[in-house]
Amino acid sequence: MMKSTTLELKFNESKLTQQQLRDIEEKFRQYSDLDISLKVNVLSYNRTDLYAHVLNLFVRCNVHKILNFNVSQLLDFLIDVADKYTEAPYHTFYHAVDIVTILYYICHDLNADMYLTELDKSILLVAALCHDIGHPGFTNSFQINTKTELAQKYGKMSTLEAYSVHLTVQLLDKHNTAHCHVIRDTIKDLILSTDMAYHSELVDQAKHLSSVTARNHVNNKRKHSTSAALTPPAHLDREDRTSLCRILLHAADISNMARPWVISKQWSDLIIQEFFSQGDEEKKRKMTVSPGMDREHCSQQSISLKFGQHILPYFQTLVSLIPKSHVFVDNLVANRTEWERLDQHDQLLATTIRRISSDIRATSPSTATNVTYKRIRSGFRSNSFPTVLYHPHYQSNVIIEKNNLRPLVNFKPSLLYDKTKPNIDPIVLYHPHDS
Ligand SMILES: [Zn+2]
Repeated sequence: MMKSTTLELKFNESKLTQQQLRDIEEKFRQYSDLDISLKVNVLSYNRTDLYAHVLNLFVRCNVHKILNFNVSQLLDFLIDVADKYTEAPYHTFYHAVDIVTILYYICHDLNADMYLTELDKSILLVAALCHDIGHPGFTNSFQINTKTELAQKYGKMSTLEAYSVHLTVQLLDKHNTAHCHVIRDTIKDLILSTDMAYHSELVDQAKHLSSVTARNHVNNKRKHSTSAALTPPAHLDREDRTSLCRILLHAADISNMARPWVISKQWSDLIIQEFFSQGDEEKKRKMTVSPGMDREHCSQQSISLKFGQHILPYFQTLVSLIPKSHVFVDNLVANRTEWERLDQHDQLLATTIRRISSDIRATSPSTATNVTYKRIRSGFRSNSFPTVLYHPHYQSNVIIEKNNLRPLVNFKPSLLYDKTKPNIDPIVLYHPHDS
C-alpha cells in the first residue's frame, strides 16, 4: 500500500536517533500489510513499533492530509502526543494507540465507516489518540475530592478530559494544524465525551441513532425497490455523524473487556494496578476508598465481572447500529466465563489456605509430616511477613499477605521450592515465623 518513506524530524530531533527513525521506516513498511483485527496487541510493541503502527493507520485513512501534514510532520506530532502521556499503569500512550487501533477496526472491518466521511474518521482518530493525554492515573473524583491543581484549574466537570483537551489544543497550535473551527470543536467534543459520566447518555444516543439509520434504510429500500441489496447506506447529517463518533470512541475506550481473553486480561491487570494504587493513596490520606479500588476488599475478578455486566448493554445497543460489532458481545460473554473460572479458583485457594493455616496452628513444626516450614524474609515489598505457598498443580508459588488471603504475586517455583524433598506434598507452606 505504501511506497518507501524517508522520515525526518523537525520538532523532535533530540527525541529519536537516526537508527530509531530507520526502524520506524522499516516497521511502517511492514505494517502496511498488517491485518487489523481484535487480536492486534499493542502491548507487545516497543516505542518505535507504536509510532510506526499509528503512522501507518493514520496514513491508511489520510489523516495526515486532513491535518495538512506530510508523514514526517505527522510523526513529529505523534512523538509530542506520546510525550504528554504519563507513566500511569493503564492510561499511557499504549492505551491511546490501542483505542486508535480498535477504532480503525470498527470503521473498516465492522463497516462503521459507511456512515462517516474521511474527515469524520480523521477527526475521530486524532481525538482517540489524544483523549487521555496527561491522565495522571487518578480519577476525576480523586481530583475533586483531594482538590488537586487540575481540579482547581479545569473545574469539577470532566476535569481530566478538560485537561486533555487543553493539552491537545496546545499541540495542535505548536504543529500549526487543524485551524478550522469545525475540526477543532469536534475534537474537543469527542475528547470530553470520553468521560465515563456520559455512559448512559451515549446508550440513549446509540438507540436514537439506530432508529434513524433503520428509518433511512427503509426509505432507501422504497426508493430503490428494485435493487435494495445494492442500496448505499443512508446519509447521516453532521450532528448525527458526530454523535456516532462519540458512541464509537466510547465503545473503543471501554472495549478492553470485549477483546480476546489473553489481551483482555493484560489490560485488566494494568487498570487494576491503577485502581489499587489510587485506593492505597486514598487510605494513606484517610479518605473513603473509591468503589472497586480497595485491594484488601475487592478482587480483580469481582471488579471485572461487575464492569463486564455494566457495559454489556452498551455493546448490545451498538449491534443494532453496527451489526458486525456483535463480536464484542461474544467476547464479553466468553470472558465472563474466564473471570468466573478464576473467581472459583481464588475461592478454592482461599479455602485451602484457611485449612492449612488451621493445620499449622494445630501441629508443631517438628512433628509435621505434610507441611514444610521455611523462613522467608527478604525480597518482598510488604512490611508484614508474607506467607508463601507452593502449589504444584499451578506450578507456582503464591504469596499471601498477612491478614489477606488473596494471592498477590506468582513467583518462580525454583526460587522457593525445596528440591531436596522428593516426595513433596501437594501444598508446601513456607511459614515466615519459623526457621
Ligand atoms: Zn481512555
